[in-house]
Amino acid sequence: MPSGDIIQDGLSAEELFKSGEGLTYNDFILLPGYIDFVAQDVDLSSPLTKKITLQAPLVSSPMDTVTESEMAIAMALCGGIGIIHHNCLPSYQANEVSKVKKYKHGFIRNPVVISPDILVSEVFLLKDEHGFCGFPVTENGKLGGKLVGIVTSRDIDFLEGSEQLRQPVSIIMTKLENIISAQSGVTLEQANSLLENSKKGKLPIVNENGELVALIARTDLKKSRNFPKASKDENKQLLVGAAIGTREEDKERLHLLHQAGADVIVLDSSQGNSIFQVEMIKYIKKNLPELQVIGGNVVTMSQAKTLIEAGVDGLRVGMGCGSICTTQEVMAVGRAQGTAIYRVAQYASQFGVPVIGDGGIQSIGHIIKSLSIGASTVMMGSMLAGTSEAPGEYFFSDGVRLKKYRGMGSLEAMNRKDAKGSALNRYFHSEKDSLKVAQGVSGAIVDKGSVLRFLPYIQCGLRHSCQDIGTRSIKNLRNMMTLGQLRFEKRTQSAQLEGNVHSLFSYEKRLF
Ligand code: GDP
Ligand code: 5GP
Repeated sequence: MPSGDIIQDGLSAEELFKSGEGLTYNDFILLPGYIDFVAQDVDLSSPLTKKITLQAPLVSSPMDTVTESEMAIAMALCGGIGIIHHNCLPSYQANEVSKVKKYKHGFIRNPVVISPDILVSEVFLLKDEHGFCGFPVTENGKLGGKLVGIVTSRDIDFLEGSEQLRQPVSIIMTKLENIISAQSGVTLEQANSLLENSKKGKLPIVNENGELVALIARTDLKKSRNFPKASKDENKQLLVGAAIGTREEDKERLHLLHQAGADVIVLDSSQGNSIFQVEMIKYIKKNLPELQVIGGNVVTMSQAKTLIEAGVDGLRVGMGCGSICTTQEVMAVGRAQGTAIYRVAQYASQFGVPVIGDGGIQSIGHIIKSLSIGASTVMMGSMLAGTSEAPGEYFFSDGVRLKKYRGMGSLEAMNRKDAKGSALNRYFHSEKDSLKVAQGVSGAIVDKGSVLRFLPYIQCGLRHSCQDIGTRSIKNLRNMMTLGQLRFEKRTQSAQLEGNVHSLFSYEKRLF
């Protein structure tokens, strides 16, 4: 700050929320501060729970169109964390957790493997289907089978004519004695130098019995980026969370997830202030005290009080503000997200319990607003749905590439074949609720490319935003808010219109 008298302009957070009206992110804006540092210097680290601090305040939501292992791996690599959804069998969910914990950068743990008996024509079909052409060949055609060779583009590129295409792979593959492979336990550096001496772009990894356990692709090593800010535990494994419900049978799920290595458990309920959640929190704290537990969802101080007294390590805040959500319309219960975060965080901060702003995030601006009024991290659904790491296949509609995105309280999610009632669990407390009232919708979202590009873009935006505000860290942003140094202003309807693009005949909005 330059010296001289401080001229107080705008409102403090307390003044902003004093009126009692429910405010959403779009209803207010932050006033700029003083810049005496570069944006790259901004520290985005922030606590997720009492014991877990993330390098980036970003969490992916436990929804079946948002977070399975691929999303959770990408989130953790970029410094955030993914929470694996529970709209599936417990064993499936635990396996997704375990994939994140076992992830090693650069290793393809589940490569497409072929058998020596399939025909060259079938390899071309696989190449078209998957878009790559490095297939390890094992005796039984499966991962874990004895490695006998490999087929890459060089082996098949010049094969044509029905006679050549009808040959079995065993004739044209590069045989075991002519390929370089590595033993499991090899480091990426060692793999790199082995690949340099290999004519193939792929390095099969085998165990002591010569059975295939993984594959490394040279292309990945070449473009291999470092993820210095990845979220890791003390064993250098990526951090991951998992959601559960609060029914008796969820205890079995809980133990499976714990065995698979989950670092944090999210109790997934749209109204968390319940005896069921209190009992589950106490059960976890008694039986698995090392596990961090996030309770919720809550939007009021008194809801927060119950869960904090029961022992939560973090709180998830939001009711009815999600993009796919119809709770406020159908149930007439909920709270505007800005006010919900401010009030809950104001209360929870006295006990050192961090708050996650869950739902309603549509832009980088919303993230910084959430953090500026007390959230320590934000949880996102629609922002991350439609990325290549989100579960589900892309499809086209009117020439636009889309992915499905749906609320966990939508009828479609509740009726999922292997759902085991877990989406139901979030929206209904009793098995006796035989008639379902949907609290969410099902829709589609435009392709956003890879999270590994999208999250760095978000983080870069957050740093610049902090620079404009004049804070070098998220931690300081919160301190400034508490001390009344962070200044806000309410936005009228016309201020919001003015703040959006206007007066143009046409324009293209490209984000990065
Ligand atoms: P290829 O030479 O045609 O096999 O393709 P590249 O090596 O250029 O690229 C393969 C890309 O696909 C790499 O980024 C791999 O990580 C990725 N990939 C994902 N799953 C597999 C798999 O099962 N096998 C192979 N070969 N690549 C995979
Ligand atoms: P988004 O980021 O898309 O705005 O919101 C995601 C959040 O909405 C989730 O993290 C979750 O809290 C909430 N949510 C997910 N599915 C549903 C649903 O079907 N109904 C309601 N009310 N909320 C949902």
